[in-house]
Amino acid sequence: MKLYKVDAIVLRSVNMREADQILTLFSLERGKIRVVAHGVCKPTSKKRGAVQPFSYTRFLLRQGRELDSVSQCEGLELFWELRQQLKNLIYAIYLTEMVDALTMSGEAQKEIFWLLLNTLRLMAGSDTELLTRYFEVKLVNYLGYQPFLEECVVCRGPLNNGRVGFYPAAGGVLCAACARKEPHSFWCYRGTVALLKLFLRWPPAKLRQIKVNPELRKEMRLIMQKHLEYHLEHQPKSARFLELMYKI
Ligand SMILES: [Zn+2]
Repeated sequence: MKLYKVDAIVLRSVNMREADQILTLFSLERGKIRVVAHGVCKPTSKKRGAVQPFSYTRFLLRQGRELDSVSQCEGLELFWELRQQLKNLIYAIYLTEMVDALTMSGEAQKEIFWLLLNTLRLMAGSDTELLTRYFEVKLVNYLGYQPFLEECVVCRGPLNNGRVGFYPAAGGVLCAACARKEPHSFWCYRGTVALLKLFLRWPPAKLRQIKVNPELRKEMRLIMQKHLEYHLEHQPKSARFLELMYKI
């Protein structure tokens, strides 16, 4: 039986019978893959930490007839600090659920791998909400369906100052004149759109330098939520937890 090595972030783990788990991994070398990990639910298993969602782990995998299986694994970064606080835990799960929902199996996507890993690395002690918006914008950009933010998506005219529209079905912004005519668009500030455009160009460390008021945060959240909903068949479970958290 052939063995091979991958470095991967665990996207999901589902319990099976007899202490086994099916893991969905996002690997640097092969993109998203599903593997079986035998015996990891046993209290004595040394692999437990390394196979939890959002752990960054080095796997030695054995090729199987249907699913490949975990022969050995070594946790490289387990992100304990994110697991100790409910808010960070939910955000980290959300990132992995988004990658799982939006990527295809068996296709290496190195930019997305590094985006996910670096976002997890920055998460503890940073502005998690802004960092998550940054992650969403970059993720859809790498996948090729970033929101269109340059000019009005309907009339192709320039964006006015002040309030503009966002139209999820067209995947972009509207000038005020077009927004008034489109009942399925919603209003947002031009500044919110400008901020999302900056995120596309910035390295994540730059987020520490800015302060964003609650209104713009709410609008960014709504734009990305509506834009992502358009591309997702169903919303990740963690997205609903995040919504509840914003209301507290
Ligand atoms: Zn227009």
